[in-house]
Amino acid sequence: MSQGGSGTRVAQPLTHSEGREFDELVAGLVPCRSNDPELWFAEQTARIEEAKALCRECPLVAGCLAGAVDRAEPWGVWGGEVFVDGVVVARKRGRGRPRKDAAA
Ligand code: SF4
Repeated sequence: MSQGGSGTRVAQPLTHSEGREFDELVAGLVPCRSNDPELWFAEQTARIEEAKALCRECPLVAGCLAGAVDRAEPWGVWGGEVFVDGVVVARKRGRGRPRKDAAA
């Protein structure tokens, strides 16, 4: 396999305006960049479900979820899943609500 030569294309860094255009393009494809980011860290179940639904339309969903699992994200919606204390949970419990199985 040859290196260089007239048939080889070498990636060039983006110019500042090209970089801005790229960021805008990505933002348009990634829901958490084009919607209120607070939605992904909401307390209300309906808003959390809205974030999860938007994640399911995201082209980065699989990688986002894998990264969040690797980083043990402490909270928020990542890759269409809810994280609490670094693990995926089915539902986020409301603030201040005690667990049913908590010791009395
Ligand atoms: S999958 Fe990740 S990158 Fe995509 S919208 Fe959800 S949180 Fe954002």
